[in-house]
Amino acid sequence: MRTSQRKMIDGHIHFAHYAYKNALINILKGAGVDKLAVVCTPDEKRLSLVPDALHLKGHYPDQVYVFGGLDISPLLMTPDIAGEAFAHYVDVLMGLGADGIKMIEGKAEIRKRLPIPDFDDPVYAPYWAKLAHDQIPLIFHVNDPEEFWDSEKVPAWAREMGWYYGDGTYIDNEDQYRQVLNVLDRHPDLKVIFAHFFFLSAQLDRLGTYLDRYPNMHIDLTPGIEMYFNFAADPQKARDFFLQYQNRIIYGTDIGARALLTDRAAGIEPEESLARIEVVRGFLENEGPFKLTHTGFLFGGPKAAFHGIGLPDDVLDKIYHRNFERFAGQTPKPLNPEAIVEECERLETMINAMAVFQPGMAGDTSSVSAVKAYFSP
Ligand SMILES: [Zn+2]
Repeated sequence: MRTSQRKMIDGHIHFAHYAYKNALINILKGAGVDKLAVVCTPDEKRLSLVPDALHLKGHYPDQVYVFGGLDISPLLMTPDIAGEAFAHYVDVLMGLGADGIKMIEGKAEIRKRLPIPDFDDPVYAPYWAKLAHDQIPLIFHVNDPEEFWDSEKVPAWAREMGWYYGDGTYIDNEDQYRQVLNVLDRHPDLKVIFAHFFFLSAQLDRLGTYLDRYPNMHIDLTPGIEMYFNFAADPQKARDFFLQYQNRIIYGTDIGARALLTDRAAGIEPEESLARIEVVRGFLENEGPFKLTHTGFLFGGPKAAFHGIGLPDDVLDKIYHRNFERFAGQTPKPLNPEAIVEECERLETMINAMAVFQPGMAGDTSSVSAVKAYFSP
C-alpha cells in the first residue's frame, strides 16, 4: 500500500461511550485520518448515543462530524405521529450542532425489535419531506448482505450474531428496497449516503441505475466484508464502476462497531480498527491481489483473498475526502452547549420514564449526566 500523506475523512465511525475518546483518537491519528463522522445508533438502556458523540466533538470541534440518531421513543409512545416527532427531532439535533442524521432502522434485526412502520408509510411522510426540503445529510443503513436471507448461504458468523433473516420473522430485503426507493421517487433530491454500498456490491448494474436516477444519492465503502469479496470476483468491473461513480462514493470503515455490537468492555481496539482501514484502502489503492496484515472482526480469517483496483490519485482524493465535504460541509457545524445541556436533561427524564414504560429496560443515565456536566457552564 502506498503510504503517502493524503487527506482522509472516515465517514462512518461508531462511538459507543464518551470514555472511548482517547483510544479512538490515538488510532485515527496513528493511521493518518484527519477528520471523522460519528454515526449514532439508538441504545436500549441509554436511548441515545448522541451525547457521547457530541462530547467527542466538544473536544475536537474541527475534526468531528456528528450524525445524530433519531429518538426512537415516539415509535413506542406516539406511533401515529412518529414522523412528525422525527421531523421535529431533526431540528433538535441540528440545533445541538449535529451535521446530519444517521438511521440504522433499515437493519432487519433492528426492524424486528422496534415497531418501525414501512419507510414509505404516510406516518413517515413529514420526516422525509423535512430532510429533503432542508437538504439535511442522512446516512442510512438499509438491509444487510443478501445472503443473510438465504439459509444455504448465510455465513456461520452472521448466524451467530443473530443475523440470519430467512425464517420469515424479519423484513424481506427486496420489500425494504421497494419502500426506500418509493421514498426517493417522492424526494429524488434527498441527500443520502446508503451505508455499506446499499448492500448491492454484487449487483453493480442495478446500483448504477439508482445512482443515475437520484442525483444526491451516495454510497459508503464501510465493510460488510462481503463487499470486498464481491469486488474481488470481477475487479475490472468494480474498477469501471468506481471510475464512473467517483463523485458518489465515500470512504468509511465502521471503526467502533465491534465495541458497539459485541464487546463494550474491550472498547475500541487498535488491531481490529487497523484491519478495517487496511481492507478498504488496500482495495482502493493496491493493484492486484493482497492479504491483510491485521486481524479484523468478521473479516473471513487470514486466508481471505482480496483484490485491489489501483485507483488514480484524483479519484482517491474524492473518495477519501472531497465527496464527504461536498455532502456534509467543508467543516463540522458549531456546537450549541446550552441546547446540548437541555437535551441531556430531557434524555435523563426520558430514560427514567422509559424504564417505567418498558419494565426490564433498566435505564442508564450515567453517561448522559457526565456529558451534561461537561457542557454545563
Ligand atoms: Zn456502522
